[in-house]
Amino acid sequence: MKAIHQKQEHTSSYYAATVNEVTDYPELEGGVTADICVVGAGFTGVATALTLAERDFSVALIEANRVGWGASGRNGGQLINGISGLSKVRKKHGEGVEDMLWELRWRGNDIIHDRVAKYGIECDLKNGFVETAIKQRHLADLEEYAEQMERHNHPYKYELWDRATTSANLGTDAYIGGFVSYRDGHLHPLNLCIGEARAASGLGVKIFEQSLVTGIEHGARPRVRTARGHVDADSVVLAGNAYHLLESRHLSNLTFPAGSYIIGTEALPDELVNEINPLDLAVCDLNEVVDYYRLSADKRMLYGGRCNYSGREPESIKASILPRMLQIYPQLEDVRIDFEWGGMIGIVLNRIPALGRINGNVYYCQGYSGHGVNATHIMGELVADAIGGTMEKFDLFAGMKHFRIPGSQWMGNQIIALGMLYFRLKDML
Ligand SMILES: Cc1cc2nc3c(=O)[nH]c(=O)nc-3n(C[C@H](O)[C@H](O)[C@H](O)COP(=O)(O)OP(=O)(O)OC[C@H]3O[C@@H](n4cnc5c(N)ncnc54)[C@H](O)[C@@H]3O)c2cc1C
Repeated sequence: MKAIHQKQEHTSSYYAATVNEVTDYPELEGGVTADICVVGAGFTGVATALTLAERDFSVALIEANRVGWGASGRNGGQLINGISGLSKVRKKHGEGVEDMLWELRWRGNDIIHDRVAKYGIECDLKNGFVETAIKQRHLADLEEYAEQMERHNHPYKYELWDRATTSANLGTDAYIGGFVSYRDGHLHPLNLCIGEARAASGLGVKIFEQSLVTGIEHGARPRVRTARGHVDADSVVLAGNAYHLLESRHLSNLTFPAGSYIIGTEALPDELVNEINPLDLAVCDLNEVVDYYRLSADKRMLYGGRCNYSGREPESIKASILPRMLQIYPQLEDVRIDFEWGGMIGIVLNRIPALGRINGNVYYCQGYSGHGVNATHIMGELVADAIGGTMEKFDLFAGMKHFRIPGSQWMGNQIIALGMLYFRLKDML
């Protein structure tokens, strides 16, 4: 089993180098009481805490490292509507929930846009995301998606692109088409997370950093323990995603950590920017094992991809990602690579976020399978709704059956590595 991370500072990413605020919330010491105790200050934990505080709950938020230390402060920054595995949720609950699920898939975009405006969070939020087709079957997916947008009267701009338009707008012949959604986009995820935490703190949320939660004593009012303190609360929310090992009796074998990696170039000259991404879009291909990229606010290429399910860091992130980038953009051959970093995403085998309750008052919310900037905000709201007594949407997800692999805390990554091989082979066909 992996050691639990604690008391670590941010990984040396482009985001940590350009962060608006270096947080320094105190360590939890002694006893604290709150209505709700949230464990883990990534997007799930921070978004949930902020929603609860907006609804007048008192909240304690406990983080083992720093706010945004995990995947939330390291990701591609692509704000993409939807929730992984949603089609399965629809299949199980029937067509009657279609409209509700369609609205839900955009809810994270709305929450983020609203919060950025309401709390004045500076996180380089930009509109525009393009999904790119590499194979014919991808084009069929994009056309179906456009039909869905039309059927639901999607109020924001969207476009289907043919090969020539895609090539002209992305400066590469790698794709045979694309679909652009202007309600999706991209942002600086660490600055968003830290900004939301600052807003939560402003509403009275007690935030503790460098405070690893070591266990929970269950009861009518559970006690959440760290090495030097505890929080007593009516409800607890576990938001440690791929990084936490709490409540193993209920949660082990449910979410698997998988590495995803990004490189950041030096700032690109204007002519290169105008050639490869004049519309300043976030880009993600439609392969099973995706490549995703975008320009930062200061016009660096942030190029990510290649999940690693083996549990081992690649020896060199740059050596593993750079060839992927150059395959799409040989124009970037001579640019300097200034940053390379990675983080852990939480994979669930059926790809549906794992949402549920233990003993009635300990909630968990995890496993976005690499698609979490938007989904964490949706799920955080569903958990806050459930805590407030509105279970309808929470139950849609909590009622989904998840697969577990017994003993997979020891061998799960090997099993997932096999699954990964399957997906890579599928991409090659
Ligand atoms: C490299 C990379 C690129 C990605 N790109 C995208 C993208 O472009 N778009 C997208 O939508 N998604 C992307 N994702 C996925 C997305 O980042 C995640 O789904 C999302 O951030 C998960 O948020 P979280 O809050 O649940 O988990 P995390 O952000 O991982 O936060 C969990 C936090 O809990 C803390 N914690 C764990 N255990 C304990 C404990 N016992 N006590 C106290 N604290 C604890 C950890 O320290 C951590 O800070 C990417 C992920 C990675 C790694």
